[in-house]
Amino acid sequence: MQLITNEPDLRRALAGKAHIAFVPTMGNLHAGHISLVQQAARTGALVVVSIYVNPLQFGPHEDFARYPRTLAQDIALLQQSAADIVFAPDDSTLYPHRDIKQPKNTGQSVQLQLPELAQRLCGASRPGHFNGVATIVLKLFNLIFTNGCQQACAIFGRKDYQQLRLIQIMVQQLNLPVQIIAAETIRLPSGLAMSSRNGYLTEAEREQAAGLYRTLDQLRVQHQALAIRTTAAIRQLEQDAVAQLQAQGWRVDYVAICHPDTLQAAQPQDQQCVVLAAATLGQTRLIDNLGYEISEK
Ligand code: AMP
Repeated sequence: MQLITNEPDLRRALAGKAHIAFVPTMGNLHAGHISLVQQAARTGALVVVSIYVNPLQFGPHEDFARYPRTLAQDIALLQQSAADIVFAPDDSTLYPHRDIKQPKNTGQSVQLQLPELAQRLCGASRPGHFNGVATIVLKLFNLIFTNGCQQACAIFGRKDYQQLRLIQIMVQQLNLPVQIIAAETIRLPSGLAMSSRNGYLTEAEREQAAGLYRTLDQLRVQHQALAIRTTAAIRQLEQDAVAQLQAQGWRVDYVAICHPDTLQAAQPQDQQCVVLAAATLGQTRLIDNLGYEISEK
């Protein structure tokens, strides 16, 4: 496994590689990330994993400064995985026009603007977040999938479902020659989705945090069992889940039952659904989602 930190070395290492599978991450790797690496390896391609905490996608009052940076530990973990190349770019590689004294000032004046979906759900409480994500993902694609790459794929987790959908839409609408592969969410035995931000939780909060998954799973069961499916009944399920989470001590951003493609509010006739939620426990904002099917009656 090779560690690369700058563009010239990356271009040299990837020159002539026809089949590349790419896993973008912000590091502090856990079993969820590693499952993406395994999925990348199953394509038979050269596996490139990037590690970069992207300032562009953090709001002014978010956790950019305290986000866990554990490069040595991440490299040790990747060494035991199927990763071929770790690309951990320095800031000057991705943002050469940045203000060195202010890391959040990237100097990236060309940025992608995403459709309206980027302003809803997580986009409502994190303005600009998804534009920052899309911009860095496109930059990374351009760094990694050139040099003669003929078969490009990138693996994204369903854990960040809204992000996954927006990247799929971006790839489609910008005609990017990249196949996007969606990977299942890896959970702890309690049901809590693995996340780098779980490290912010206290021991007690960690126990409590599994309540987010349990609440969504309960909502799923209730939705599937609804005797009469009406819009009002679906919205009531969302409200009940919000109330349940609040009773458990969460500050809830949203619980939304959506159509999995459009992420518009689910309608009674929808057979495929995804329920998405974002909520804060103590100082830690977590997200989760569950996809499910409603059988015809
Ligand atoms: P991050 O480092 O949080 O930016 O995540 C990098 C990639 O790993 C994204 O595509 C995430 O959706 C994915 N990911 C994060 N947590 C999990 C998990 N628990 N299971 C599967 N994929 C995950």
